[in-house]
Amino acid sequence: MRCPYCEAENSRVLESRTSDDGTTIRRRRECANEACARRFTTYERVEQRPLMVIKKNADREAFSSEKLYRGLAKACEKRPISTEQLETVVNTIERELRLEYDREVPSSAIGERVMEALRKLDGVAYVRFASVYREFRDVATLAKEVLALLSETSDKQQEST
Ligand SMILES: [Zn+2]
Repeated sequence: MRCPYCEAENSRVLESRTSDDGTTIRRRRECANEACARRFTTYERVEQRPLMVIKKNADREAFSSEKLYRGLAKACEKRPISTEQLETVVNTIERELRLEYDREVPSSAIGERVMEALRKLDGVAYVRFASVYREFRDVATLAKEVLALLSETSDKQQEST
């Protein structure tokens, strides 16, 4: 690695440390030019290919886990769901999308995964998100969705008793 101060070609690694989550290696280096001998830090991480989201109107935008998180957080406002739970959902969805799609993912695939995750996490958050995402045109459609959810919940309760 070239020294950023004197531009000498070589440096030596003094220390390598892996980040707590295992995604980054940090290296302390020292310039091999004895007249310089300054220290600097480099980071090594896996290259993420950009994932493009194709929206309903055929526009494209880069996938953003921050945006996904904000959407989820909004649906979960004032619900008993922790930041950690939301982060886990975001990470799981992003990992699944990157496994399943090469470079482009339809926004509907993201929406469906969010619905699925929220359905398991919290009924209220799920209905909130679904009502925006599916653009329920009338109360009847929304009510149908809520009833379906309620009957699923009572099925689960019956199974567990
Ligand atoms: Zn140097």
